[in-house]
Amino acid sequence: MKTDEIYTYLHKQIPVMMLLSLAPGLGYIFLGLLNDIYIGALFWYIGIVIISLRGYVLYKRFDLSTMGKSQLGTWYKDTSVLFYFFFSIWLVIFLIYIPESESGMHYIAIFTEIGAATVAAALLFPDKKLYKPLLLLLMIPLAIYFFFIGTWYGYVLTAFALTFTWVLFYVANASNELFTRTIFQSTHDYLTGLYNRQFFVKYLQKKMSELKQSGGYSYLLLIDLDHFKTVNDSLGHDVGDQLLREVVKRIKRNIYVDAMLSRLGGDEFIITGDNYPNKQKCKESALKISEVLLAALKETYVIGNHHLYISASIGVSLIKSNKNSSHDFIKEADIAMYEVKEKGRDGVFFFDEEMSERVERNLRLEQLLYSAIGKKQIKLAFQPQVSRDNNITGVEVLARWSNDEFGDIPPADFIPIAEHTGLIVELGKYIIESAFITAKEWSNKGIELRYMSINLSVRQIMHYNFVNDITALYEKYFEQGSRPKIVFEVTESIVAEGKEVCDIINKIKKLGIQFSMDDFGTGYSSLSYIRNLPIDEIKIDRRFIDELSDYKNAEAMVETILHIAKIFNLEVVAEGVETEEQRRFLIEHGCKIFQGYLYSGALCKDDFEQYYLEKK
Ligand code: C2E
Ligand code: CA
Ligand code: CA
Repeated sequence: MKTDEIYTYLHKQIPVMMLLSLAPGLGYIFLGLLNDIYIGALFWYIGIVIISLRGYVLYKRFDLSTMGKSQLGTWYKDTSVLFYFFFSIWLVIFLIYIPESESGMHYIAIFTEIGAATVAAALLFPDKKLYKPLLLLLMIPLAIYFFFIGTWYGYVLTAFALTFTWVLFYVANASNELFTRTIFQSTHDYLTGLYNRQFFVKYLQKKMSELKQSGGYSYLLLIDLDHFKTVNDSLGHDVGDQLLREVVKRIKRNIYVDAMLSRLGGDEFIITGDNYPNKQKCKESALKISEVLLAALKETYVIGNHHLYISASIGVSLIKSNKNSSHDFIKEADIAMYEVKEKGRDGVFFFDEEMSERVERNLRLEQLLYSAIGKKQIKLAFQPQVSRDNNITGVEVLARWSNDEFGDIPPADFIPIAEHTGLIVELGKYIIESAFITAKEWSNKGIELRYMSINLSVRQIMHYNFVNDITALYEKYFEQGSRPKIVFEVTESIVAEGKEVCDIINKIKKLGIQFSMDDFGTGYSSLSYIRNLPIDEIKIDRRFIDELSDYKNAEAMVETILHIAKIFNLEVVAEGVETEEQRRFLIEHGCKIFQGYLYSGALCKDDFEQYYLEKK
């Protein structure tokens, strides 16, 4: 395969060739006319005209960024023909002038031939296919000529000509090797020997212009290994490197021979496939190959004496010719790949416009969120929790954000953003402080609640200063003796943090704050952790409540949760209670606290106060 660099290099040599035909050419025409060798003059004249015109056309026609594979192929063929033509003229001139020993023109002929061969080696060294035959074409006639002089100095000159030919070959080969190696290094990844990102981006650009002409589709698979960093960190980079090489082997084994595979960096690989006439075929093919790859990559790796298991996340974008930059497609595949990671890894997703809009929106929200607290856009809402006999026993604090650009933004949208940016630490602290202030205010106003529940994120709890922050706030707003009951709601995902999280919870509990397991039944749900985690309450997830009338197993699930709570002596709150029927079922099975639209949605502070006073 010819690399782009060879094409580019040859392209650059076209003007040199044109110049070399023009300048010495005019000299030859002059010498020809002077010595009555009109045929020589004529040849050069024709040569100059053809090379100038054809050279100009070929020079202009070349554009690496828009030419497809076949166009480049034709261009290369045409350009090679021109180079052959150019050097053939030198040969012809040699043949015409060499018999002219009387006028001394045969010296010029010999000089011409040696010069031409040197130029061929210097000009065309990157392309073996060009310089090898040309050097022979130019030098062999010279050696033969010397040989047939028949005298001893003729033989010496023959030997000289052959040696010189060898030197030219040697120099051109050495330059060629260096050229090829440099190109290889700049376009390949050292560790895996695959093409690198720079090369791939250029390649993709070309593929896009190919598709523009054919009107077809192709796909881009972005493969990212899951938790590769853990392998690297725990077993060392040597094992990591070997694992990567093994991964590459497996990918290669499972893709078409002419699919383009490159390493984008780290543990990210990218593949483009064939061209397909229609979108559906392209999608099917991309899905099939993704599934094959996912399965192949998941098989056990044996490296040294380690048995490793690793999965991959694959994002797919379909390539059509309507985007201007190859980076767009890589970005799309990247977005799809992140979606897979977010949905639990080990899978494949196709990029779609909705995904892109969501990503754009999230990026914008992320920008705005940084200043939301400062601009006082974050407010608290309060949702009552009610006992069996309809008394308000508590309240859950829920964050609300609204701004001019998006209006009301649901916490399900902005909390995850705050979590992954780390902003949740600041935001969470702000919410807790605002909630404490409200609790104090209410207690002064005589609004007595048994407890106030505040949601926490894992990242917040795991922040090194969490315990200190909470202690400081708690002591700042509440005096000893008149402390309201605060409940922190955490989700089952904290279990993944291990023992450390228990220590933190225990420290906070010493203040008198309680813990509730939110969205119970949706996450890791395991009996052993309810026993081990120091929690006081569980909240039955609203999805189970919602399904109560539809599915028998939802009923069984709720019954079981209530039963477990009884065994472990935990308080239970049923959330998302919307109908009388649900309430009745829950009461029948021993649930004591209810939260949901049946009673009230989340209310702003003033509305909550009003609601409280009415119910009292
Ligand atoms: P969550 O903790 O499970 O909160 C309960 C959600 O259910 C709230 O949605 C609430 O408005 C809604 N809800 C209450 N009753 C009903 C009902 O009868 N039917 C239905 N369909 N829904 C009901 P919201 O306020 O949109 O909050 C969504 C999630 O955002 C919360 O789920 C919580 O995980 C998170 N969140 C909200 N505020 C905060 C916060 O201050 N900090 C943290 N870390 N997360 C928060
Ligand atoms: Ca909650
Ligand atoms: Ca919940």
